[in-house]
Amino acid sequence: MASTSEFKTPNGTRDVLPPESARWEVLLARFARTVEAAGYGLLISPMFEHLEVFQRVGASTDIVRKEMYQFQDKGGRELALRPEGTASVVRAFVQHRPQVPWKVWYAAPSFRYERAQAGRYRQHHQGGIEVLGTEDPDVDVEVIALAWEFFAALGLRQVHLRINSLGDATCRPVYRQALTEFLERRAGLLCDEHREAWKDNPLRVLDCKKPDCVAATADAPHQVDYLCDACRTHFARVREGLDALGIPFSLDPRLVRGLDYYTRTTFELAAAALESAQNAVGGGGRYDGLVEEMGGPPTPGIGFGIGLDRTLLACDAEGVLPAASVAAPLDVYVVDFAGGGAARDITAELRAAGLRADRAFDGRSPKSQFKSADRSRARLAVIVGPDEAAAGEAAVKDLRAGADAGQRRVGRSGLVAELKQTLRLMDTSINM
Ligand SMILES: [Zn+2]
Ligand SMILES: [Zn+2]
Repeated sequence: MASTSEFKTPNGTRDVLPPESARWEVLLARFARTVEAAGYGLLISPMFEHLEVFQRVGASTDIVRKEMYQFQDKGGRELALRPEGTASVVRAFVQHRPQVPWKVWYAAPSFRYERAQAGRYRQHHQGGIEVLGTEDPDVDVEVIALAWEFFAALGLRQVHLRINSLGDATCRPVYRQALTEFLERRAGLLCDEHREAWKDNPLRVLDCKKPDCVAATADAPHQVDYLCDACRTHFARVREGLDALGIPFSLDPRLVRGLDYYTRTTFELAAAALESAQNAVGGGGRYDGLVEEMGGPPTPGIGFGIGLDRTLLACDAEGVLPAASVAAPLDVYVVDFAGGGAARDITAELRAAGLRADRAFDGRSPKSQFKSADRSRARLAVIVGPDEAAAGEAAVKDLRAGADAGQRRVGRSGLVAELKQTLRLMDTSINM
């Protein structure tokens, strides 16, 4: 027989139990409400794809090269668990060819085989949106604004937005050449990882946080200074739009993000309340060449992904969205020590009437049932003992009013209406 220690969540994964899970419900509901208000529809795609789908989006990145959960299924197919959200959306677009602009959102787990750390799990959860089929810079503004609004809807106040432009197929090669020449001269000064590997993806060196790389590239050329006219105009319109919507941002010419496919606008949102090395809560950008690379017609695209696990850590750090405030308590707890039939029938009636109701099972003692009622945080208790049962009545008690609060007897036939009325009055007095 297996020892119990084998039956635990694998490293880097976790269970989310109630009431903590109520925060996830609120998080997902607010995300859906924010983006659906802007015309985005939910896309549900498989959690795993053919390996090539992900290799196509990031062959030179750590996420794809080192951190992917790839496996062979029983039919010998090479598959991988989704390491990020965009690749699957683009694959779905190429496969189904929907009308453009195609605006979709998703909220789903992503998988990365990396060292587990706070807010970074091997199965983490991302919410994201993607827009395919338009290169209008106002869409860039819309996408950034929706991420911004979502954080605001959670009550987060210390979120900082950084933006950059990575150019396009016209101006990126010119810049890449300039950066390559610069790095050739500085290669010896780069960090251990990049001294040899910088040639695979020179841009990534600018993203490196190691002191050697930061120092060696302090005066590196920046893409924003190499933008072609079209990219410069595009980026100016994006900044103008953010200003118009009152969304504060800073320009960060070193912001290159971790994946190969980004073009033009890129952005990142950081929660200042978290430790700086791990405070990115979301980010995204344009990927105008990706659909074509995946075998589709030339189609521009843009989107973002938000790390939901880390967003909740940011909520903790800012003291917003506490679990106790979001878990919806029961309305009514039915205490029945006259055989259980009343509890069975009354909870069914209450639930059918739209109230949240629960009861005890197993013929527990009145004392034990009242304890459960308190623990449930229900607002009202309905009590049916032998006296009430014989009279065709039930007693109603306000569980928030303290131990010596009185009870009143109500006829069974009017009970549901009476409870609804009482709960309404309680709501009114709370809101006054
Ligand atoms: Zn480095
Ligand atoms: Zn350009």
